[in-house]
Amino acid sequence: MRVIVVGAGIGGLTAAGLLARAGHETVLVEKARAFGEVGAGIQIAPNASRVLASLGLGEPLAAVGTTAERVVYRRWRDDAEILASPIGDAHLERYGHPYFNVYRPDLIEVLRQGLTHPERPVEVRLGAEVLDVATTADGATVAPADGEVLAADVIVGADGIKSAVRTALFGAMPGRFSGWLAYRALVPRDRVPDWPIEITNRLGPDRHLVSYFVGRDQRYLNLVCVVPEPSWDLESWTEPGELADLRDHFADWSPAVQAILDEVVEPVHRWALYDREPLDAWTRGRVTLLGDACHPMVPFMAQGACMAIEDAAVLTRCLDDGPTPGAAIARYERARLPRTADLQRRSWRNCTVFHLPDGPEQRARDARMGERSGSGAEALAAFDDVQGYDALSVPLPR
Ligand SMILES: Cc1cc2nc3c(=O)[nH]c(=O)nc-3n(C[C@H](O)[C@H](O)[C@H](O)COP(=O)(O)OP(=O)(O)OC[C@H]3O[C@@H](n4cnc5c(N)ncnc54)[C@H](O)[C@@H]3O)c2cc1C
Repeated sequence: MRVIVVGAGIGGLTAAGLLARAGHETVLVEKARAFGEVGAGIQIAPNASRVLASLGLGEPLAAVGTTAERVVYRRWRDDAEILASPIGDAHLERYGHPYFNVYRPDLIEVLRQGLTHPERPVEVRLGAEVLDVATTADGATVAPADGEVLAADVIVGADGIKSAVRTALFGAMPGRFSGWLAYRALVPRDRVPDWPIEITNRLGPDRHLVSYFVGRDQRYLNLVCVVPEPSWDLESWTEPGELADLRDHFADWSPAVQAILDEVVEPVHRWALYDREPLDAWTRGRVTLLGDACHPMVPFMAQGACMAIEDAAVLTRCLDDGPTPGAAIARYERARLPRTADLQRRSWRNCTVFHLPDGPEQRARDARMGERSGSGAEALAAFDDVQGYDALSVPLPR
């Protein structure tokens, strides 16, 4: 089967690699002139690292990924511990696959290795912005800006939240601005040599701050600092940010927070956080969607890219199983829509849960979270439905 994947982000790269490995003639069409991702870090949980291992990328990922020792939630002003649970060996023991923190450019580089299958390498077309998509009697076509029309049995739109493929299928659907903005910043490791190798989520009124190491040898401490923003009317959702503004936002937070913000190196970026209500459908004829193109979510469960990676695995299984390309992608949508909609909703709920003002509701939240603390793999049980999901073997709907 010939499959065109539009968009070489984390989702599209994974899908193209898996499809080629399954024997499909695969074309990857990307509007940028080079592969890449804006700096900063990403968390790849076992539900996604399992899929990447099946693509033969387990070792390269381990070479660039950091496995934190623990994930810890702390209070904003005094760093008091709310919840701590293990990562490291606990994830291997419970799920058979690691939980990695990765520098995004490193992840893209690893995923590129998945495109070079010796028998069936993916055909890559860079600098090719897709402007339109059409379904035909026995397939579909895409029209990149260079004017050449490309035909395939199936087209997969993995072209992100502003997906041109989704717009061609269903019309324009602006994303929903969440009211939250993430400052993203890096601190070189040598400036914070004693900082623990942990994922730390500090929760405070109207703000939260996530920190974890990324890069080979934990080169950077990656910071995601979420603050309220009443409106966002800029076309781009990523903009340069001012370090002074970032520090102001967290000026009354704990001394540990002041210590890391003092060591941030510029540039600092600001990301407006968008999502969308779950769609009713994302497949039409021989065209389907994957990743943020169909289920963008606010990053408050760190699962957006992990869901795109799961999508890629389930899509490949459905296409392998037939009976026809159209039936296969309809089945893929049936398999993925309920799970991704659930993650979209749960991520959205954390807009409230993570940002409660100090008071009775916050204390009740902290008490509930604290009950999940533990030091062994059993402390992960609360995350089984997310991180224990096996996209490679989960039963598929008929
Ligand atoms: C602050 C923040 C933190 C996050 N942290 C995490 C985390 O820890 N873990 C996690 O799992 N997720 C996280 N996410 C979510 C994650 O980044 C996204 O869900 C993921 O990157 C989506 O990947 P994608 O491949 O679907 O889309 P994208 O990454 O948006 O890729 C789309 C690709 O399509 C290309 N493209 C677009 N239009 C066209 C066109 N017309 N023609 C051709 N090519 C086109 C683009 O250039 C791009 O390469 C976070 C998000 C944010 C904002």
